[in-house]
Amino acid sequence: MSSDKIIISCAGDKELARQVYSYLQANLSSSKGHNMHDPITLAEDEIEIMNDRNAVSQDDLYNILIDFLESDKEKYSEYEISDLENIFTVGIKKDLLKDMKTCEYCGYMSKDYDDMYMHRLVCAAITRL
Ligand SMILES: [Zn+2]
Repeated sequence: MSSDKIIISCAGDKELARQVYSYLQANLSSSKGHNMHDPITLAEDEIEIMNDRNAVSQDDLYNILIDFLESDKEKYSEYEISDLENIFTVGIKKDLLKDMKTCEYCGYMSKDYDDMYMHRLVCAAITRL
């Protein structure tokens, strides 16, 4: 199955989306057979790849995303890629999200107990101002 548009969602993480976007720009064009007249656009946490000539295969794209995560193992070790039809999602592994503690004041997430403790102290102080 082919689609004229592929979406890469970074699940609300705009900074991650920016990183993925520049990685794609650098690496899609250098891969064989890809026609870089098919534009890539970045909007908030989503990247859209217009693919109306099917210049990019979903498999290739998946491999580039995997390469992206492996380009900085330290930083992205807790991330995974899932795909559904023409949408790829890059985000924190779902089994890790289950252990994630969420700040009740602002929604900040961390699975580190001390980090979350310190965060809540600051967040609670600011919220009370
Ligand atoms: Zn907070």
